[in-house]
Amino acid sequence: MTAIHKPNLAGLTRAKLRALFVDMGEKPFRAEQILKWIHQRGVLDIDLMTDISKDLREKLKQAAEISLPKILEDFKSEDGTRKWIVEVSSGSHVEMVFIPEARRGTLCISSQAGCSLDCSFCATGKQGFNSNLTVAEIAGQLWWANYHLGVFEDKAEQRVSNVVMMGMGEPLLNFDNVMDALSIMMEDCAYGLSKRKVTISTSGVVPAIDRLKDYTDASLAISLHAPNDELRSQIMPINNKYPIKEVLRSAQGYMDNLSDKRVPVIEYTMIAGVNDHRQHARELAVLLEQLPCKINIIPFNPFSLSDYRRPSSSSVTNFRQILQKAGYTVTVRTTRGDDIGAACGQLVGDVEDQTRRSERHKRRHAQSELAKKDGSKVFGSTDNLAVTADRL
Ligand code: SAH
Ligand code: SF4
Repeated sequence: MTAIHKPNLAGLTRAKLRALFVDMGEKPFRAEQILKWIHQRGVLDIDLMTDISKDLREKLKQAAEISLPKILEDFKSEDGTRKWIVEVSSGSHVEMVFIPEARRGTLCISSQAGCSLDCSFCATGKQGFNSNLTVAEIAGQLWWANYHLGVFEDKAEQRVSNVVMMGMGEPLLNFDNVMDALSIMMEDCAYGLSKRKVTISTSGVVPAIDRLKDYTDASLAISLHAPNDELRSQIMPINNKYPIKEVLRSAQGYMDNLSDKRVPVIEYTMIAGVNDHRQHARELAVLLEQLPCKINIIPFNPFSLSDYRRPSSSSVTNFRQILQKAGYTVTVRTTRGDDIGAACGQLVGDVEDQTRRSERHKRRHAQSELAKKDGSKVFGSTDNLAVTADRL
Protein backbone atom coordinates (compact mmCIF):
# COMPACT_ATOMS: atom_id res chain seq x y z
CA MET A 1 0.00 0.00 0.00
CA THR A 2 1.42 3.40 -0.90
CA ALA A 3 1.47 5.97 1.88
CA ILE A 4 -0.66 9.03 1.21
CA HIS A 5 1.38 12.13 1.88
CA LYS A 6 -0.33 15.21 3.14
CA PRO A 7 0.78 18.39 1.37
CA ASN A 8 3.73 20.00 3.14
CA LEU A 9 2.89 23.66 3.75
CA ALA A 10 6.60 24.53 4.03
CA GLY A 11 7.11 23.57 0.39
CA LEU A 12 4.12 25.27 -1.22
CA THR A 13 4.37 28.47 -3.22
CA ARG A 14 1.87 31.26 -2.72
CA ALA A 15 -0.11 30.10 -5.79
CA LYS A 16 -0.19 26.47 -4.62
CA LEU A 17 -1.22 27.46 -1.09
CA ARG A 18 -4.02 29.62 -2.46
CA ALA A 19 -5.23 26.69 -4.55
CA LEU A 20 -5.11 24.43 -1.49
CA PHE A 21 -7.30 26.80 0.52
CA VAL A 22 -9.76 27.15 -2.34
CA ASP A 23 -9.95 23.34 -2.53
CA MET A 24 -10.69 23.29 1.19
CA GLY A 25 -13.54 25.78 0.66
CA GLU A 26 -11.56 28.53 2.41
CA LYS A 27 -10.48 32.04 1.46
CA PRO A 28 -7.29 32.15 -0.65
CA PHE A 29 -5.76 34.98 1.45
CA ARG A 30 -5.06 32.36 4.13
CA ALA A 31 -2.07 31.51 1.93
CA GLU A 32 -0.32 34.79 2.77
CA GLN A 33 -0.95 34.25 6.48
CA ILE A 34 0.63 30.81 6.33
CA LEU A 35 3.64 32.06 4.35
CA LYS A 36 4.28 34.77 6.93
CA TRP A 37 3.97 32.38 9.87
CA ILE A 38 6.35 29.82 8.43
CA HIS A 39 8.91 31.86 6.54
CA GLN A 40 8.91 35.23 8.31
CA ARG A 41 8.16 34.27 11.90
CA GLY A 42 9.67 30.78 11.79
CA VAL A 43 6.54 29.15 13.27
CA LEU A 44 6.01 25.50 12.30
CA ASP A 45 3.23 24.62 14.73
CA ILE A 46 -0.20 25.23 13.23
CA ASP A 47 -1.68 25.64 16.74
CA LEU A 48 0.43 28.77 17.22
CA MET A 49 -0.92 30.51 14.12
CA THR A 50 -3.28 32.67 16.09
CA ASP A 51 -4.77 34.81 13.33
CA ILE A 52 -6.37 31.66 11.94
CA SER A 53 -9.56 30.45 13.65
CA LYS A 54 -9.34 27.38 15.85
CA ASP A 55 -11.70 25.47 13.55
CA LEU A 56 -9.60 26.17 10.49
CA ARG A 57 -6.41 25.25 12.34
CA GLU A 58 -7.95 21.87 13.19
CA LYS A 59 -9.02 21.38 9.58
CA LEU A 60 -5.55 22.34 8.37
CA LYS A 61 -3.90 19.89 10.77
CA GLN A 62 -6.02 17.11 9.28
CA ALA A 63 -5.35 18.10 5.68
CA ALA A 64 -1.69 19.14 5.71
CA GLU A 65 1.61 19.02 7.55
CA ILE A 66 4.63 21.25 8.03
CA SER A 67 7.96 19.51 7.76
CA LEU A 68 11.53 20.63 7.19
CA PRO A 69 14.75 18.68 6.69
CA LYS A 70 16.84 17.98 9.81
CA ILE A 71 20.06 19.81 10.64
CA LEU A 72 22.62 17.25 11.77
CA GLU A 73 25.68 19.42 12.32
CA ASP A 74 26.63 23.06 12.53
CA PHE A 75 30.23 24.14 11.77
CA LYS A 76 31.79 27.56 12.18
CA SER A 77 34.96 28.48 10.32
CA GLU A 78 37.67 30.76 11.70
CA ASP A 79 36.68 33.30 9.05
CA GLY A 80 33.02 33.30 10.18
CA THR A 81 31.74 31.04 7.38
CA ARG A 82 29.06 28.63 8.59
CA LYS A 83 28.32 25.19 7.21
CA TRP A 84 25.36 23.01 8.10
CA ILE A 85 24.84 19.34 7.31
CA VAL A 86 21.24 18.73 6.31
CA GLU A 87 19.54 15.33 6.31
CA VAL A 88 17.02 14.96 3.50
CA SER A 89 14.17 12.48 3.08
CA SER A 90 16.19 10.09 0.89
CA GLY A 91 18.50 9.61 3.90
CA SER A 92 21.42 11.41 2.24
CA HIS A 93 23.18 14.33 3.84
CA VAL A 94 23.73 17.55 1.90
CA GLU A 95 25.49 20.73 2.89
CA MET A 96 24.69 24.42 2.88
CA VAL A 97 27.07 27.27 3.54
CA PHE A 98 26.65 30.84 4.79
CA ILE A 99 29.36 33.33 3.86
CA PRO A 100 29.19 36.60 5.82
CA GLU A 101 30.85 39.64 4.26
CA ALA A 102 30.95 43.32 5.20
CA ARG A 103 27.92 44.33 3.17
CA ARG A 104 26.16 41.07 2.46
CA GLY A 105 25.55 37.53 3.62
CA THR A 106 25.44 34.83 0.96
CA LEU A 107 23.75 31.48 1.48
CA CYS A 108 24.92 28.70 -0.84
CA ILE A 109 22.10 26.17 -1.18
CA SER A 110 22.08 22.54 -2.40
CA SER A 111 19.47 21.29 -4.86
CA GLN A 112 20.36 17.59 -5.16
CA ALA A 113 22.00 14.90 -3.05
CA GLY A 114 25.02 14.22 -5.25
CA CYS A 115 25.12 15.08 -8.93
CA SER A 116 24.93 12.98 -12.09
CA LEU A 117 27.11 15.26 -14.20
CA ASP A 118 30.52 14.20 -12.92
CA CYS A 119 32.59 17.32 -13.64
CA SER A 120 36.16 16.22 -13.09
CA PHE A 121 37.02 19.01 -10.62
CA CYS A 122 33.98 18.70 -8.33
CA ALA A 123 33.74 16.68 -5.11
CA THR A 124 29.93 16.47 -5.39
CA GLY A 125 30.24 15.04 -8.90
CA LYS A 126 32.53 12.28 -7.63
CA GLN A 127 29.71 11.00 -5.41
CA GLY A 128 27.27 10.26 -8.19
CA PHE A 129 23.60 11.07 -7.92
CA ASN A 130 21.26 10.03 -5.15
CA SER A 131 18.12 12.17 -5.15
CA ASN A 132 16.42 15.42 -5.95
CA LEU A 133 15.66 17.61 -2.95
CA THR A 134 12.01 18.50 -2.38
CA VAL A 135 10.80 22.11 -2.41
CA ALA A 136 10.71 22.17 1.40
CA GLU A 137 14.24 20.74 1.54
CA ILE A 138 15.56 23.48 -0.75
CA ALA A 139 13.65 26.49 0.65
CA GLY A 140 14.04 24.92 4.11
CA GLN A 141 17.79 25.58 3.93
CA LEU A 142 17.01 29.30 3.97
CA TRP A 143 14.60 28.74 6.87
CA TRP A 144 17.33 26.99 8.85
CA ALA A 145 19.94 29.63 8.07
CA ASN A 146 17.54 32.30 9.35
CA TYR A 147 16.85 30.19 12.42
CA HIS A 148 20.55 29.79 13.22
CA LEU A 149 21.32 33.45 12.52
CA GLY A 150 18.57 34.52 14.96
CA VAL A 151 16.43 36.22 12.30
CA PHE A 152 13.12 34.84 13.61
CA GLU A 153 13.86 36.16 17.09
CA ASP A 154 14.86 39.52 15.67
CA LYS A 155 18.34 39.31 17.16
CA ALA A 156 20.38 38.60 14.03
CA GLU A 157 23.75 40.28 13.60
CA GLN A 158 24.06 38.84 10.12
CA ARG A 159 21.37 38.20 7.57
CA VAL A 160 21.02 36.31 4.31
CA SER A 161 20.95 39.01 1.64
CA ASN A 162 21.87 36.73 -1.31
CA VAL A 163 21.12 33.14 -2.23
CA VAL A 164 23.21 31.22 -4.74
CA MET A 165 22.19 27.78 -6.02
CA MET A 166 25.83 26.74 -5.93
CA GLY A 167 25.78 24.01 -3.32
CA MET A 168 25.51 20.34 -4.19
CA GLY A 169 23.78 19.31 -7.39
CA GLU A 170 22.70 20.71 -10.72
CA PRO A 171 19.67 22.93 -10.00
CA LEU A 172 18.28 22.70 -13.53
CA LEU A 173 18.10 18.91 -13.31
CA ASN A 174 15.68 19.34 -10.38
CA PHE A 175 13.79 21.96 -12.31
CA ASP A 176 10.26 22.00 -10.85
CA ASN A 177 11.31 21.84 -7.22
CA VAL A 178 14.01 24.48 -7.66
CA MET A 179 11.55 26.79 -9.43
CA ASP A 180 9.03 26.51 -6.60
CA ALA A 181 11.73 26.99 -3.96
CA LEU A 182 12.99 30.13 -5.75
CA SER A 183 9.44 31.43 -5.89
CA ILE A 184 9.13 31.04 -2.08
CA MET A 185 12.51 32.74 -1.56
CA MET A 186 11.49 35.70 -3.73
CA GLU A 187 7.91 35.96 -2.45
CA ASP A 188 7.22 39.16 -0.48
CA CYS A 189 5.07 37.30 2.07
CA ALA A 190 7.90 34.83 2.63
CA TYR A 191 11.60 35.76 2.35
CA GLY A 192 11.20 38.63 -0.11
CA LEU A 193 14.64 38.31 -1.73
CA SER A 194 15.10 40.38 -4.88
CA LYS A 195 15.55 38.70 -8.25
CA ARG A 196 18.99 40.27 -8.46
CA LYS A 197 20.06 38.56 -5.25
CA VAL A 198 19.03 35.02 -6.08
CA THR A 199 21.31 33.26 -8.54
CA ILE A 200 20.90 29.94 -10.32
CA SER A 201 24.25 28.41 -11.23
CA THR A 202 24.19 25.83 -14.01
CA SER A 203 26.68 23.71 -15.85
CA GLY A 204 24.64 24.42 -18.99
CA VAL A 205 21.53 22.26 -19.27
CA VAL A 206 20.39 24.00 -22.45
CA PRO A 207 16.73 22.85 -22.74
CA ALA A 208 16.17 23.87 -19.11
CA ILE A 209 17.80 27.30 -19.61
CA ASP A 210 15.58 27.74 -22.66
CA ARG A 211 12.40 27.34 -20.60
CA LEU A 212 13.64 29.14 -17.49
CA LYS A 213 12.14 32.48 -18.52
CA ASP A 214 8.62 31.06 -18.16
CA TYR A 215 9.22 30.26 -14.49
CA THR A 216 11.55 32.80 -12.90
CA ASP A 217 13.51 36.00 -13.35
CA ALA A 218 16.32 35.12 -10.96
CA SER A 219 19.93 35.89 -11.91
CA LEU A 220 21.96 33.37 -13.87
CA ALA A 221 25.51 32.05 -13.59
CA ILE A 222 26.98 29.74 -16.20
CA SER A 223 29.75 27.35 -15.22
CA LEU A 224 31.96 27.54 -18.30
CA HIS A 225 35.46 26.65 -17.07
CA ALA A 226 37.00 26.33 -20.54
CA PRO A 227 37.30 28.52 -23.65
CA ASN A 228 36.76 25.75 -26.22
CA ASP A 229 34.69 22.59 -26.61
CA GLU A 230 37.62 20.22 -26.66
CA LEU A 231 38.86 21.24 -23.23
CA ARG A 232 35.39 21.74 -21.78
CA SER A 233 34.32 18.24 -22.82
CA GLN A 234 37.40 16.82 -21.09
CA ILE A 235 36.51 18.37 -17.74
CA MET A 236 32.70 18.59 -18.05
CA PRO A 237 31.02 15.58 -19.74
CA ILE A 238 27.80 17.58 -20.17
CA ASN A 239 29.60 19.58 -22.87
CA ASN A 240 29.36 16.53 -25.16
CA LYS A 241 25.62 16.97 -25.09
CA TYR A 242 25.36 20.77 -24.91
CA PRO A 243 28.40 22.47 -26.41
CA ILE A 244 29.55 25.99 -25.57
CA LYS A 245 27.84 27.79 -28.45
CA GLU A 246 24.45 26.36 -27.45
CA VAL A 247 24.98 27.20 -23.79
CA LEU A 248 25.91 30.82 -24.52
CA ARG A 249 23.00 31.18 -26.94
CA SER A 250 20.49 29.93 -24.37
CA ALA A 251 21.98 32.12 -21.61
CA GLN A 252 21.72 35.16 -23.86
CA GLY A 253 18.10 34.25 -24.68
CA TYR A 254 17.24 34.13 -20.97
CA MET A 255 18.89 37.48 -20.26
CA ASP A 256 17.13 39.10 -23.25
CA ASN A 257 13.78 38.22 -21.73
CA LEU A 258 14.40 39.90 -18.37
CA SER A 259 12.60 43.18 -17.82
CA ASP A 260 15.71 44.85 -16.38
CA LYS A 261 19.27 45.03 -17.63
CA ARG A 262 21.29 42.22 -16.13
CA VAL A 263 24.13 40.12 -17.44
CA PRO A 264 25.02 36.51 -16.63
CA VAL A 265 28.05 35.63 -14.56
CA ILE A 266 30.47 33.33 -16.33
CA GLU A 267 32.13 31.10 -13.74
CA TYR A 268 35.60 29.87 -14.49
CA THR A 269 37.16 27.40 -12.08
CA MET A 270 40.92 27.73 -12.70
CA ILE A 271 42.86 24.49 -12.43
CA ALA A 272 46.66 24.50 -12.55
CA GLY A 273 48.03 23.17 -15.84
CA VAL A 274 44.54 22.44 -17.21
CA ASN A 275 42.77 25.69 -18.12
CA ASP A 276 44.91 28.42 -16.52
CA HIS A 277 47.23 29.33 -19.40
CA ARG A 278 47.40 32.88 -20.77
CA GLN A 279 46.27 31.50 -24.10
CA HIS A 280 43.09 30.20 -22.44
CA ALA A 281 42.36 33.69 -21.15
CA ARG A 282 42.86 35.21 -24.61
CA GLU A 283 40.63 32.58 -26.16
CA LEU A 284 37.97 33.19 -23.51
CA ALA A 285 38.07 36.94 -24.19
CA VAL A 286 37.34 36.29 -27.87
CA LEU A 287 34.69 33.64 -27.15
CA LEU A 288 32.67 35.95 -24.93
CA GLU A 289 32.87 38.99 -27.22
CA GLN A 290 29.22 38.66 -28.26
CA LEU A 291 27.85 38.03 -24.76
CA PRO A 292 27.66 40.92 -22.29
CA CYS A 293 28.70 39.25 -19.03
CA LYS A 294 30.80 39.39 -15.88
CA ILE A 295 33.47 36.79 -15.27
CA ASN A 296 34.04 35.17 -11.90
CA ILE A 297 37.27 33.23 -11.50
CA ILE A 298 37.22 30.50 -8.85
CA PRO A 299 40.69 29.13 -8.08
CA PHE A 300 40.28 25.35 -7.81
CA ASN A 301 39.71 24.12 -4.26
CA PRO A 302 41.48 20.79 -3.72
CA PHE A 303 39.76 17.73 -2.21
CA SER A 304 41.00 14.25 -1.46
CA LEU A 305 39.69 12.39 -4.54
CA SER A 306 41.26 14.82 -7.02
CA ASP A 307 44.79 15.15 -8.33
CA TYR A 308 44.13 18.64 -9.65
CA ARG A 309 46.05 21.53 -8.13
CA ARG A 310 45.19 25.09 -7.28
CA PRO A 311 46.71 27.64 -9.70
CA SER A 312 49.43 29.98 -8.41
CA SER A 313 48.29 33.46 -7.45
CA SER A 314 50.44 34.91 -10.25
CA SER A 315 48.68 32.82 -12.89
CA VAL A 316 45.30 33.92 -11.48
CA THR A 317 46.45 37.56 -11.65
CA ASN A 318 47.74 37.18 -15.22
CA PHE A 319 44.52 35.49 -16.32
CA ARG A 320 42.45 38.19 -14.72
CA GLN A 321 44.49 41.01 -16.26
CA ILE A 322 44.19 39.63 -19.78
CA LEU A 323 40.41 39.55 -19.42
CA GLN A 324 40.28 42.99 -17.83
CA LYS A 325 42.40 44.48 -20.60
CA ALA A 326 39.93 42.99 -23.07
CA GLY A 327 37.20 45.02 -21.31
CA TYR A 328 35.57 42.47 -18.98
CA THR A 329 34.56 42.96 -15.37
CA VAL A 330 36.35 40.17 -13.55
CA THR A 331 36.13 39.09 -9.93
CA VAL A 332 38.18 36.41 -8.24
CA ARG A 333 36.31 34.41 -5.63
CA THR A 334 38.20 34.32 -2.38
CA THR A 335 38.30 30.99 -0.67
CA ARG A 336 36.14 30.99 2.43
CA GLY A 337 35.57 28.30 5.00
CA ASP A 338 38.08 25.78 3.69
CA ASP A 339 39.01 24.81 7.28
CA ILE A 340 35.50 23.32 7.55
CA GLY A 341 35.35 21.94 3.98
CA ALA A 342 32.90 24.66 2.95
CA ALA A 343 34.70 26.13 -0.07
CA CYS A 344 33.28 25.85 -3.61
CA GLY A 345 33.40 22.32 -4.90
CA GLN A 346 34.31 20.79 -1.54
CA LEU A 347 30.74 20.02 -0.51
CA VAL A 348 30.17 16.32 -0.17
CA GLY A 349 27.77 15.49 2.66
CA ASP A 350 27.08 11.79 2.83
CA VAL A 351 25.43 10.53 -0.31
CA GLU A 352 24.46 6.96 -0.97
CA ASP A 353 25.31 6.74 -4.66
CA GLN A 354 22.89 4.54 -6.55
CA THR A 355 25.37 4.27 -9.41
CA ARG A 356 28.30 3.41 -7.09
CA ARG A 357 30.29 6.12 -8.77
CA SER A 358 31.92 7.24 -5.54
CA GLU A 359 33.38 3.75 -5.03
CA ARG A 360 34.71 3.77 -8.59
CA HIS A 361 36.36 7.13 -8.04
CA LYS A 362 37.87 5.98 -4.75
CA ARG A 363 39.29 2.84 -6.43
CA ARG A 364 40.73 4.86 -9.30
CA HIS A 365 42.20 7.39 -6.92
CA ALA A 366 43.82 4.61 -4.89
CA GLN A 367 45.24 3.12 -8.14
CA SER A 368 46.57 6.51 -9.15
CA GLU A 369 48.25 7.00 -5.76
CA LEU A 370 49.83 3.56 -6.15
CA ALA A 371 50.97 4.34 -9.67
CA LYS A 372 52.59 7.54 -8.44
CA LYS A 373 54.51 5.56 -5.83
CA ASP A 374 55.58 3.08 -8.52
CA GLY A 375 56.65 5.89 -10.82
CA SER A 376 54.47 4.35 -13.52
CA LYS A 377 51.55 6.03 -15.28
CA VAL A 378 49.85 8.70 -13.26
CA PHE A 379 46.14 8.85 -13.87
CA GLY A 380 44.93 12.43 -14.10
CA SER A 381 41.50 13.26 -12.74
CA THR A 382 40.18 13.59 -16.26
CA ASP A 383 40.68 9.83 -16.56
CA ASN A 384 37.61 9.62 -14.39
CA LEU A 385 35.32 10.75 -17.15
CA ALA A 386 33.63 7.42 -17.54
CA VAL A 387 30.15 8.85 -17.46
CA THR A 388 28.88 11.12 -20.15
CA ALA A 389 25.87 13.34 -20.02
CA ASP A 390 23.59 10.85 -21.73
CA ARG A 391 21.80 10.18 -18.47
CA LEU A 392 20.17 13.61 -18.63
N1 SAH B 1 25.89 22.34 -10.60
C1 SAH B 1 25.94 23.75 -10.64
C2 SAH B 1 25.98 24.40 -9.28
C3 SAH B 1 26.81 23.75 -8.23
S1 SAH B 1 28.56 23.85 -8.49
C4 SAH B 1 27.11 24.21 -11.51
O1 SAH B 1 27.94 23.39 -11.87
O2 SAH B 1 27.13 25.39 -11.84
C5 SAH B 1 28.90 25.55 -8.07
C6 SAH B 1 30.19 26.11 -8.64
O3 SAH B 1 31.34 25.56 -7.97
C7 SAH B 1 30.36 25.79 -10.10
O4 SAH B 1 30.76 26.90 -10.86
C8 SAH B 1 31.43 24.74 -10.05
O5 SAH B 1 32.09 24.65 -11.25
C9 SAH B 1 32.31 25.22 -8.93
N2 SAH B 1 33.21 24.18 -8.43
C10 SAH B 1 32.99 22.86 -8.41
N3 SAH B 1 34.06 22.20 -7.90
C11 SAH B 1 34.98 23.13 -7.61
C12 SAH B 1 36.29 23.08 -7.01
N4 SAH B 1 36.83 21.93 -6.62
N5 SAH B 1 36.95 24.23 -6.84
C13 SAH B 1 36.38 25.41 -7.20
N6 SAH B 1 35.15 25.52 -7.74
C14 SAH B 1 34.45 24.40 -7.95
FE1 SF4 C 1 27.41 18.73 -10.72
FE2 SF4 C 1 27.97 21.36 -10.69
FE3 SF4 C 1 29.62 19.58 -9.53
FE4 SF4 C 1 29.43 19.64 -12.18
S1 SF4 C 1 30.21 21.29 -10.84
S2 SF4 C 1 29.42 17.78 -10.90
S3 SF4 C 1 27.27 20.13 -12.46
S4 SF4 C 1 27.54 20.04 -8.90
